[in-house]
Amino acid sequence: MSSITLLAHAKINLTLDVVRRLPNGYHEVDMILQSLSLADEVTLTALPEEPGVIRLTVENPEAPGEDIPADARNLACRAAALLAEDHAFPAGLSIRLVKHVPAAAGLAGGSADAAAVLAGTNRLFSLGLTEEELAAYGVRLGADIPFCLTGGTRRARGIGEKLEVLPAMPACTILLAKPAEGVSTAAVYGALSIGTRPPYPHVATEDACKALREGDLEALCGACGNLLQEVTQPMLPVIGELAEHMKEHGALAALMSGSGPTVYGIFTDAEAAGEAARSLPEGIRRAVTAPAAAGLSLAAGPGRSTT
Ligand code: ATP
Repeated sequence: MSSITLLAHAKINLTLDVVRRLPNGYHEVDMILQSLSLADEVTLTALPEEPGVIRLTVENPEAPGEDIPADARNLACRAAALLAEDHAFPAGLSIRLVKHVPAAAGLAGGSADAAAVLAGTNRLFSLGLTEEELAAYGVRLGADIPFCLTGGTRRARGIGEKLEVLPAMPACTILLAKPAEGVSTAAVYGALSIGTRPPYPHVATEDACKALREGDLEALCGACGNLLQEVTQPMLPVIGELAEHMKEHGALAALMSGSGPTVYGIFTDAEAAGEAARSLPEGIRRAVTAPAAAGLSLAAGPGRSTT
């Protein structure tokens, strides 16, 4: 094999609860993560003539102005460099990213790209690493990467790396809406001071797990919640406006993903989701998508994995 193309799937948080602040400044979380069919394309190609080289190209057709580093700072390059520290690559590596997942959005786009590079390079260069070993590399770069390596529907605890498989989310349509304004993940977590002010309402994670086990989409939507929205929404009121817009158009639930600013809505009626998407205000990036069963998948079509 000399080339492989993987789809690196975005995720949303069906729930996000913060358990406590850890002495190292990280936060212990308890969340339910769901992969989406929306994905970046990550093509890895062996460069036999250029041993030791890691080369990156980034294409961002839908949002060319987005600030995505196309050098060694990119999470995809950092993932390859981390593997190369411990494993001799038989050739240089070219990484081509075609972005479709909005960046800095709470959708784990960068983490998904890094996961694709870890798993894809392992396969391309027959490094023989196990899933656990790949996850151990991943968590060194970002807490969401172990999830992105496997994906589907999972409860994630610890800093996000302790994963438990949950039954698949019932079929539905998911609308994503991302305001142009960003929020810094560090600022959002920094504004949370658990224990030093009246406790935030905790998120109904157990109820959401039960709804998943029963395959009950309505009950799941009733239990979805994101503690960080309490912090982010006052900074960016458009988050509340987007959620309201989606609910008015029939979303069973509408809330923020991760530390934001993307808002997602869960719809049973795909047409209603389409209408909600079309009627969003200008300047809001939008995508209509659906739950996916995995965090990574092989891109379909001839020539996507070549020898
Ligand atoms: P998470 O939900 O894991 O916090 P996110 O969706 O909020 O992730 P990313 O899309 O991973 O955020 O991007 C965060 C920042 O990381 C971007 O602003 C960008 O500068 C940088 N970055 C590095 N590598 C990538 C990549 N491959 N794709 C997108 N952004 C990247």
